[in-house]
Amino acid sequence: KKVIFSGVQPSGKLTIGNYLGAIKNWLKYQDEYDCYFCIVDLHAITVPQVAKDLRRNSLEVLALYIASGLNPEKVTLFIQSHVSAHTELAWVLNCMTYMGELNRMTQFKEKSKKNEANLNAGLYTYPVLMASDILLYQTDLVPVGDDQKQHLELARDLARRFNNRYSPTFKVPEPIIAKVGARIMSLQEPNKKMSKSDENENSYILLTDDPDTIRRKVKRAVTDSYNTVKFTDEQPGIKNLITIYSKLSDESIEDIENKYEDKGYADFKKDLAEVIIEGLRPIREKFEDLMKNKDYLEEIYLEGANNAERVARKTLRKVYRKVGFRPRK
Ligand code: ATP
Ligand code: MG
Repeated sequence: KKVIFSGVQPSGKLTIGNYLGAIKNWLKYQDEYDCYFCIVDLHAITVPQVAKDLRRNSLEVLALYIASGLNPEKVTLFIQSHVSAHTELAWVLNCMTYMGELNRMTQFKEKSKKNEANLNAGLYTYPVLMASDILLYQTDLVPVGDDQKQHLELARDLARRFNNRYSPTFKVPEPIIAKVGARIMSLQEPNKKMSKSDENENSYILLTDDPDTIRRKVKRAVTDSYNTVKFTDEQPGIKNLITIYSKLSDESIEDIENKYEDKGYADFKKDLAEVIIEGLRPIREKFEDLMKNKDYLEEIYLEGANNAERVARKTLRKVYRKVGFRPRK
């Protein structure tokens, strides 16, 4: 069975970007593949987090995974900090990663601009921890948004580097990046990707936003003065809204353009809000139910961690042996 690994940071509530760019694409693999979907809390602390929010967000991300359609009977859902092999492998890989490689990472450059007061080494080596997440499970495929492409490339390089320096140890993972929706843009600055950690809450729509909030955010979404519903780079705001419409309604981009040919942005936005509300309704309802049953969620992540740990330990043991660490007994 082929292995799939992916994750989301509990650095906030999940946006439709996380859903359309990542989680929605995970659903189709759960029957045929051996899937690991992680809540990457170790990654989340690379930018400042409030402890009690982080604790809650980790549980909410798990609930949203399940509410989005992941079946815990079929896939392994777990919290990264519960499996210490992630940090242990990350150390070994850190010692094989060149600073030049990390200096090139665009996410680091962007996030460090926003966190100049707290430029920590963890943010810098984030891609190495991500490589460890993936390589520990001998992952074949990594379904992620377009923003993670560069990090995936590093994971592949590190796998090859280790395999060459020692002997074949890691599977070299392949990315799977959706064609439409791989990069959902900010509703306020359509040249920037939508991010759950954006300080402007009008820039994103959360999976848990209520209908009125969704209507308000869509209404405020930045557009342009063309007043034509066209999917073109000249109209990045509208282009993004069409993408969202298409992904949530399963209507083609062409059909949407035709449908709104003689209509203005107000009509388009009004319908889009309803498309989003209806598209997210089942997720939000399931999520609210799940959050009432904390015991159940705790059981899921405990079992997930036990599963994940078994596999991760096996890989880590090999790595430790190959680099020359003496076994304890
Ligand atoms: P943060 O702002 O804290 O980095 P984020 O919204 O970027 O949060 P991540 O946890 O970094 O979310 O990424 C989780 C997954 O969601 C990754 O697979 C990533 O590629 C995908 N993703 C994130 N933002 C978008 C987006 N705007 N469009 C499509 N996919 C996205
Ligand atoms: Mg991110």
